[in-house]
Amino acid sequence: MKKKYAKKRDQNKATAKEHMASLLKQAEEIFNKNKTLANRYVKLAREIAMKFKCRFTSEQRRKFCKHCYSFLMPNKNCRVRTRDGMLIHYCLECKNYNRYKYK
Ligand SMILES: [Zn+2]
Repeated sequence: MKKKYAKKRDQNKATAKEHMASLLKQAEEIFNKNKTLANRYVKLAREIAMKFKCRFTSEQRRKFCKHCYSFLMPNKNCRVRTRDGMLIHYCLECKNYNRYKYK
């Protein structure tokens, strides 16, 4: 199984990216019902990202806190502000700031 993985690495990377995107989408959908499960999806997505050395897109990176990796839902567990052309997400779970460039 592992050898097969090595041969098809590029293909697997594409599959991994799709999987990461779908996990984050599912996390978003489940968040209102089950926050713990949403966080678990984020964790799984990160594990896939690390295993296949994939990066999250900037859009995907904004969906979770980079300190505690909780799924962030504006007005639920995160406060969104803009300042000096930066988008600031204040995570209410771990009380840390996440800053992103604002387009
Ligand atoms: Zn946090």
